[in-house]
Amino acid sequence: MASIFTKIVNGEIPCYKIAESEECFAFLDINPLARGHALVIPKKETDYIFDLDDDLYHTLFDFAKKVGKATESVIPCKRIGMIVFGLDVPHAHIHLIPINKPSEMSFSSPRVELTPKEFMDIAGEISRAFKKMYPGG
Ligand code: AMP
Repeated sequence: MASIFTKIVNGEIPCYKIAESEECFAFLDINPLARGHALVIPKKETDYIFDLDDDLYHTLFDFAKKVGKATESVIPCKRIGMIVFGLDVPHAHIHLIPINKPSEMSFSSPRVELTPKEFMDIAGEISRAFKKMYPGG
């Protein structure tokens, strides 16, 4: 059965999309640790990130860097933290989390509650920054 993230890529379930390339896709985490918490995934469904072939693995991290740079240009933060767990959703994904202090990277911290409009506005801001900074995708 297709993963929930494959269904997002295929448009079968909604998401707050940030950007996509031929091989990768980025959208907001629905249960964010911070405003702008994003997930970056390969479109090709693979459970464990270290099972990606080397080319796709590098492409995914290059794409995550672009999404992170776009995010830090519009979300006030000291930097963007990166985490890979993948223990819940069996489709490789990189968490990009805007942070000001280490505790903001902790998944036991309370999540940020956002309205659908806030999610849409944040995704729109990051998406516009991404397009401006990387017009070629
Ligand atoms: P993990 O696999 O442990 O890295 O956690 C999966 C992450 O995916 C969690 O942070 C969830 O909030 C997030 N998530 C699960 N379903 C969705 C969805 N439909 N849209 C956006 N984020 C999701």
